[in-house]
Amino acid sequence: MKKMNVESFNLDHTKVKAPYVRLVGVTEGANGDKVYKYDIRFKQPNKEHMEMAGLHSIEHLMAENIRNHMDNVLDISPMGCQTGFYLSILNNDSYDEALVALEKTLQDVLAADEVPACNEVQCGWAANHSLEGAKSIAEEMLAKKDEWREVF
Ligand SMILES: [Zn+2]
Repeated sequence: MKKMNVESFNLDHTKVKAPYVRLVGVTEGANGDKVYKYDIRFKQPNKEHMEMAGLHSIEHLMAENIRNHMDNVLDISPMGCQTGFYLSILNNDSYDEALVALEKTLQDVLAADEVPACNEVQCGWAANHSLEGAKSIAEEMLAKKDEWREVF
């Protein structure tokens, strides 16, 4: 296959074993700051995916809560294929800390009694949410946390 600009387009999605947490790459800026980008794969590509409403709610919940467990989180965003999220962290090279933060964040999802910011002022599709859907995604991911380090 032709080498693509996007790292994940060069990843053979038929070879991975979800769920997993994979370091995509490290980008260093001119002043030495480093951005660590992770591929957090919840669902097996082309076999399963997250339903949109639950995915949207777990996005809100993780975005809000992961920042309580780890400094310098730049972003956590869903993939368009609905099988995972990208997590970007500034100046922290610890894979283990990222896993602990993810685990605590998913526990927050299970304990949540509402989805943060699911209203028309704070969200672009406020009608499209499911707390129950988010919890079932989190529950399944947590049940397989022993597999997170294994990508292939
Ligand atoms: Zn939203």
